[in-house]
Amino acid sequence: MSKKEIDTSMDNIISLCKRRGFVFPSSEIYDGFTAIYDLGPYGVELSNNIKKEWWKAMTQLRDDIVGLDSAIFMSPKIWEASGHVKGFSDPLTECKKCHSRLRLDTLLEEAGIFADEKMSEEEINKIFDDNRGKIKCPNCGAADFTPGKKFNLLVQSNLGNFTSDWTKDPTYLRGETCQGIYVNFKNVLDSTRVKIPFGIAQIGKAFRNEITARQFIFRTREFEQMEMQYFVKPGDDMAYYDKWRETRWHFYLDLGFKEENLQWHKHENLVFYAKEAYDIEYKFPFGFKELEGIHARGDYDLSVHSKASGKDLSYLDPTTNQKFIPHIVETSAGVGRTFLAALTEFYREEKIEDETRIVLAFPPKLAPIKIAVFPLLKNKPELVAKAREVFDALKLNWRCEFDDNGNIGKRYRRQDEIGTPYCVTIDFESLENLEVTVRDRDTMEQSRIKISELENFFRAKI
Ligand code: ATP
Repeated sequence: MSKKEIDTSMDNIISLCKRRGFVFPSSEIYDGFTAIYDLGPYGVELSNNIKKEWWKAMTQLRDDIVGLDSAIFMSPKIWEASGHVKGFSDPLTECKKCHSRLRLDTLLEEAGIFADEKMSEEEINKIFDDNRGKIKCPNCGAADFTPGKKFNLLVQSNLGNFTSDWTKDPTYLRGETCQGIYVNFKNVLDSTRVKIPFGIAQIGKAFRNEITARQFIFRTREFEQMEMQYFVKPGDDMAYYDKWRETRWHFYLDLGFKEENLQWHKHENLVFYAKEAYDIEYKFPFGFKELEGIHARGDYDLSVHSKASGKDLSYLDPTTNQKFIPHIVETSAGVGRTFLAALTEFYREEKIEDETRIVLAFPPKLAPIKIAVFPLLKNKPELVAKAREVFDALKLNWRCEFDDNGNIGKRYRRQDEIGTPYCVTIDFESLENLEVTVRDRDTMEQSRIKISELENFFRAKI
């Protein structure tokens, strides 16, 4: 895709999100707040549906994974032990002309030069120096930058600290949700029937002081993660790792994403404790980018927390009496990135006569609204009453919307744009024969169905 096509494609998605209440820029009436977004009425439904699918796949459909909801705030000792206070950083450079702050590894990558956020300051500055002149500021086009410097991404706060110089002793908003899982490993083990191999799954907010936040909700400073840590016997890691790669790949196919829009990316530059790391990348309008990371982390996490806390986090195998620190296979996905991938995957523009029909062709499980119910005319009380009756019955099973505004054609278009798979219209004939029109979003075909049959009909479809 050309730059223009990428921009148009992103603009279409962003504009639909704003126009139809999926995503709003944060604090908009105060001119916005960079890299933070709010979810509107349909956005929250889509996001909840994504989380519901993940939670179901990772907990309900398995007998080896339990859930957790740990707090956003934790002891700062956790972030020291995990290495985040010292090492959770991205390389930052500043354009000397327009003073934009930019992420150096991304800047190099965009110029086709291999770089990685995990490289040391010296390594990345060497590559930067070797390529001076080739790299231009995306904002002003100048090629004069300050040397790269590591910038810590942890967001600090004064929670529980009532002194004026709290920055010397800050608490942190969690930079990833998985630390809450590691530090609760023993609690889960002691309070449930889990036995190794088993996993702990968690969905929750994470915060990072991202240097450059572009590409809409792809990279934000407040975001939600869906993470699962799978604890295994040392030596079993790679077999489970391969299984998890397979399972997570299929999760996206089950959401309805086309396989050609997914690809694997192997990490070349591993952190010292990692055995292997792959990302599942999705073909966003701006190219293939990370959707989820699947990492074989060895025994690093439980070992560092065991050492720093002085608490034994090893596992005693009840059958062999063998004691060991479990190894971990992690799957870590972003809600916002899956949300943007779903919008990219299911956005369609169709020409119908001289009109353009915009459709979000979501599978029913992702659709914010499953069924919209319309009385043909809003000023006919008998139609409105019957439509309300149908709505009140359907809403017990599905997220429905009642709409009596505007002509039917416009109501259909609006539901197409928010991805509603079915619309039900109650007209004068419905009052006589108790049949309604059900319109299918994708085929636009309409069929007459008895009100008494609607529940069975939708049960089969949704
Ligand atoms: P990136 O390289 O894109 O910064 P990462 O490798 O740092 O991502 P992880 O720390 O592995 O990301 O986090 C796991 C998942 O959390 C990512 O695959 C992504 O879906 C999501 N995620 C991470 N950072 C952000 C962010 N700033 N905004 C939105 N989602 C994010």
